Amino acid sequence: MKYKIAVIRGDGIGPEIIDQALLILNKIGDLFGHSFNFTEVLAGGCAYDVKGTPLPQETIDICKNSDAVLLGAVGGPKWDELPGDLRPEKGLLQIRKELGLYANIRPAILYDPLKDACPLKSEIIDGGFDICVVRELTGGIYFGERGRKKSAMGEAAYDTELYSTGEIERIARKAFEIARQRNKLVTNIDKMNVLESSRLWREVVNRIALDYPDVTLNHLLVDNGAMQLIRDPKQFDVIVTTNMFGDILSDEASMLTGSIGMLPSASLGEGKFGLYEPIHGSAPDIAGQDKSNPLATILSTAMMLRFSFGLQEEGKAVESAVEKVLVKGYRTGDIYSKGMKLVGTREMGKLVLENL
Ligand code: NAD
Repeated sequence: MKYKIAVIRGDGIGPEIIDQALLILNKIGDLFGHSFNFTEVLAGGCAYDVKGTPLPQETIDICKNSDAVLLGAVGGPKWDELPGDLRPEKGLLQIRKELGLYANIRPAILYDPLKDACPLKSEIIDGGFDICVVRELTGGIYFGERGRKKSAMGEAAYDTELYSTGEIERIARKAFEIARQRNKLVTNIDKMNVLESSRLWREVVNRIALDYPDVTLNHLLVDNGAMQLIRDPKQFDVIVTTNMFGDILSDEASMLTGSIGMLPSASLGEGKFGLYEPIHGSAPDIAGQDKSNPLATILSTAMMLRFSFGLQEEGKAVESAVEKVLVKGYRTGDIYSKGMKLVGTREMGKLVLENL
């Protein structure tokens, strides 16, 4: 099969981690008989430098005309003084909106060879864990009405959490569909004891669950959910939640895995199209020094193979190659511990390639 992939290298370590991910995709193509056609486009600070905007129209058009988008990372101190609308991160928010990507999928997997990096006690995490957080990405309090007004106690400010049935339905369906490919358990996290928006959220999730009788659904209030992630992360399979709760809980879950350099993500809309990127930023402190961990980006290509192209075996091949390299003791600086073999970005990419 032939697939069109728009590639955004971005800023900082973006170009160097993308280089390694493209090598992996090419090798998967050779091994399994697929052809990946890459079109490089600009977004972020580098786009601002060349085109005067962090998201040129040409980038949007090419992304829309592709089967998937692979993104490194954007941003850095060079562009920190720019006004909000021209900042690299604005390009990122805008591209998700332009592409209608309403579901953010973040796996938090604790690989057994990296269990020393997890801050939890070994009896809690024995055997590792594999959680998938499905976060609503384009609604809720980050996009609701906001403002300031006068009050008896001085100036006041407000933000509004607003969710429509349609927005909840589509994210709930994504979560159930993903759970079907995994351990068939969805945990919905909301705050229905206090928030009206959460009461509608829970009603709709319960209704959508009826279409997925093979998937078990349970509910947690967000305060308890945050606690349960620490107390017993192994109880979770798929977590579905709102934009703000997902923002916070997915960072909490990623911390449990020990390294930001290991975690991939997918942002999905209708159909199979998706944007795939590591969860970390552009790490300007180590950019261009062959020190960055390319594994989160490489694992993002595995998510692309699975979600956008339906290539489960190929996705598994990438994930297994990464695991083999970790089992053999190779580590970039961010996941290094005593007794392991320290390698750079290029060497880590090469090792994954050899283990495919
Ligand atoms: P960051 O994730 O870039 O870095 C945090 C720390 O983690 C740094 O010490 C960095 O060296 C380290 N780190 C991150 N990724 C790593 C990797 N792959 N390998 C090894 N170490 C890694 O977060 P930050 O420093 O807060 O932000 C830097 C810039 O990135 C900012 O401009 C920020 O706005 C931007 N940012 C972009 C994205 C994105 O593109 N999706 C996400 C977050 C932050």
